[in-house]
Amino acid sequence: MTLLLPALQSPTGPAASREAVRFGALSLTYGELAAASTALAARIANAGRVAVWATPTPETVIAVVAALRAGVPAVPLNPRTGERELAHILGDSEPTAMLAGPDDELPPALEKLRRVTVDARAAADSGTPAGSPAYEAGAAGPDVYGTGEAGPEDPALIVYTSGTTGPPKGAVLPRRAVAASLDALEDAWGWTGDDVLVHALPLFHVHGLILGALGPLRRGGSVRHLGKFSPEGVARELGSGGTMLFGVPTMYHRLAEALDGPAGTAERDALARALSGARLLVSGSAALPVHDHERIATATGRRVIERYGMTETLMNTGVRADGVPRPGTVGPPLAGVELRLAEDDGTVLDEPGAIGEIQVRGPNLFTGYLNRPDATAAAHTADGWFRTGDVGTVDADGYVTIAGRKATDLIKSGGYKIGAGEIENVLLAHPGVREVAVTGEEDPDLGERVVAWVVATDPDSPPSPEELADRVAAQLAPHKRPRTVRYLDALPRNDLGKIMKRSLRA
Ligand code: ATP
Ligand code: MG
Repeated sequence: MTLLLPALQSPTGPAASREAVRFGALSLTYGELAAASTALAARIANAGRVAVWATPTPETVIAVVAALRAGVPAVPLNPRTGERELAHILGDSEPTAMLAGPDDELPPALEKLRRVTVDARAAADSGTPAGSPAYEAGAAGPDVYGTGEAGPEDPALIVYTSGTTGPPKGAVLPRRAVAASLDALEDAWGWTGDDVLVHALPLFHVHGLILGALGPLRRGGSVRHLGKFSPEGVARELGSGGTMLFGVPTMYHRLAEALDGPAGTAERDALARALSGARLLVSGSAALPVHDHERIATATGRRVIERYGMTETLMNTGVRADGVPRPGTVGPPLAGVELRLAEDDGTVLDEPGAIGEIQVRGPNLFTGYLNRPDATAAAHTADGWFRTGDVGTVDADGYVTIAGRKATDLIKSGGYKIGAGEIENVLLAHPGVREVAVTGEEDPDLGERVVAWVVATDPDSPPSPEELADRVAAQLAPHKRPRTVRYLDALPRNDLGKIMKRSLRA
């Protein structure tokens, strides 16, 4: 039987005293996490489904691991979700219990759920429990791929999508998908129990929770969570034993900015040293601007590698640790993942360079959207491929480049199909441009015209529309030039730093 978290099954000896997670001053060993999660698993064993108040704390990790051990699906909730969206998620997922830390104040909508308190401090204070009665009891208790009735196809987690393109949908993720995707990343990245992952991502999405927390725990490695992202925190943790960094593009942007300072300042040099020394710097959840990629490479000699995934599919592609990172690309499909490009009418595109919708198949896929058979059906082709809704190209050697979302980033202008991503990359390399989003807007002549939404580095003297348009025409092609440039103070972004293009269009 395959275990989802084998390293947590019954750690003994040195394995039990290895650090599993550290959040600031609070650290839990494998023995402590195993004991705390097993005890909690017993308390929630009869819950149909549990919600987890997913703050960036060890309580969230204990809660999710306990739910996996109990075979009870967990629904991680973003603590910053507004009342309306929270009501939607609760009504949709119908949890019977709410797992939260001792100090968490829950909004009224959650008060009617049975509250189960998770206390990481108590778990840490209990000492390494290997050999202790509580731990022995736990070790004999439920295991992961399924004590009790939970098997590979049973839901491990219900994770709501980020809501970038519409109201969030609950993706039902079976144990099989979580295990398959983490194994594919292990294969690509040579991920081992010796790795110490540094991250600062939220724990209610796939990136921070499944890759960032369950990934290390599956292998017996450690997680150090920064709580709140800062370049200083990254320098400190990578500089003191951290081997990998997982982040979203907005974090790498801030690292690039911090590295831009003059060499010789202690802080900047410490950050450059820490990043140079890391085994792996990984970016995902949105496109990493080529400009930031290059700035980090110049300052540290290290290239950030990108992986591409979604809530519904977990990870699809990724640059391998022993592969060649190419700025602007997300690497080839991961082991076990089949990927193709297709037109709306189902025509499969084979020639290198053709742009089309990315469709995938593999053991990493979800089983469907909760309560949304219509949406689940619409997201699949007749021959069983999942439509990602993203558009991209594939090189002759299998590297995938994401152009963006079919709905907002594929601009059909004057008979051409234009991807927003490459235009954004060209504009971001202009020193006068701090942030940019490119969209299409209806145009009587062209069908759609390219529009650039620009946040200027210096709002008092932004680069002119002509200058920006000429740059795009010179570096890409004349038909890709933005016909309209609009200046903003900031771009609308969600928790993961993703640009909410649908609110720009509205
Ligand atoms: P919703 O589905 O609710 O609109 P969402 O698609 O943003 O929200 P997620 O499942 O969290 O929700 O995000 C998956 C999407 O993120 C992918 O479909 C893709 O558009 C984008 N993405 C993820 N990784 C990358 C990457 N490396 N480069 C570019 N885009 C990426
Ligand atoms: Mg999506």
